Amino acid sequence: MSTDGPPERLTDASLARAARFARVRDRMREMDVDALLLSLGADLPWLTGYRAMELERLTMLVLPVDDQATLVVPELEAPRVDHDPRLFDMRPFPEHEEPTEVVAALVGKRSRLAVSDRCWASHLLGLERSIPQADWRSAREVVGPLRAVKDAREAAALRAAGSAADGVAAALLSGEIALIGRTEAEVSDEISRRLRDLGHDRVNFAIVASGPNSASPHHDPGSRVIGRDEVVVCDFGGSLKLGDGVGYCSDLTRTVVTGEPGAQFRELFEVLRLAQAVAVAAATVGTPCEQVDRAGREPITAAGYGRAFVHRIGHGIGIEEHEDPYMVAGNATPLVAGNAFSIEPGIYLSGRFGARIEDVVIAADDGPLVCNQADHRLAVVEA
Ligand code: ZN
Ligand code: ZN
Ligand code: ZN
Repeated sequence: MSTDGPPERLTDASLARAARFARVRDRMREMDVDALLLSLGADLPWLTGYRAMELERLTMLVLPVDDQATLVVPELEAPRVDHDPRLFDMRPFPEHEEPTEVVAALVGKRSRLAVSDRCWASHLLGLERSIPQADWRSAREVVGPLRAVKDAREAAALRAAGSAADGVAAALLSGEIALIGRTEAEVSDEISRRLRDLGHDRVNFAIVASGPNSASPHHDPGSRVIGRDEVVVCDFGGSLKLGDGVGYCSDLTRTVVTGEPGAQFRELFEVLRLAQAVAVAAATVGTPCEQVDRAGREPITAAGYGRAFVHRIGHGIGIEEHEDPYMVAGNATPLVAGNAFSIEPGIYLSGRFGARIEDVVIAADDGPLVCNQADHRLAVVEA
């Protein structure tokens, strides 16, 4: 930044970041937190635009409620940081220096500290030794509720990621992605490649679960060859950057069949489609998260498949593929406009088959906004 001439104009992204710093400090005051220590996870990129490398070295933003923030970062990773000196200082450390001591010096006498959930235990143990007066709590309590409410720019990024994933789903549903005679792993690779081709910067997962494997919700795609008259569950997503922003996630599931799946599967699938639609319709501003889960569970339970729906109906989504708010029994927090989350009921009959339908939804004042448009009808893929 130059010191003479007209002041540098703030970009939209840095204005948004400055506003986030201010909101975080307000919340720290409300919660009596003296300093926030952000390491791995999405809070750091949400605030600064910088995502720490998930390696053994410590990266940590030390954000005191009453002073300028400092990013403690390995010297060799410092060039990756798009540093905005109005928001935080940089404190690169060389290989021989102990970073937890650097953090302790920046924390000083402050004692009420909030630390990232995903800070490695190895670092937290070091920080506990270096900052003996600390009273620890989770940074998720401070930043989570702020991050769970997406602004217009974030909603646009989620919708762009959703429509890119829709493009892959369309190729799957139309039979353009061949299934019969290929292994799950091959199909998974093709889905990943197509996610990148349609603009994703990163692929987080591409589950392809065929035949009896479709009854395993988090199946690892492997060497099983997909046959005829089988069920195939495909659940995929990654993250996509809009402009100079950080990446926002897509997460989409469609279930297809390679021929005639039989009467029971067709009946089960219609129950699932109804459940998914009912849950999306229930996801209005003011509705408790657990009520959305309950609404979608009802038709499945009524059809006798209650015990075969073994997971919550959805999870929040943003910079992280899973984040607040969780659509699960026990979470009575009401939805607010800007909450973004998946709605993904599933029915799994062990040893036989399973099915899941998933879209990403954003709660809005004029009703739930669905980020995915790919068809929900059961597609028969004969290729
Ligand atoms: Zn999952
Ligand atoms: Zn998914
Ligand atoms: Zn999901």
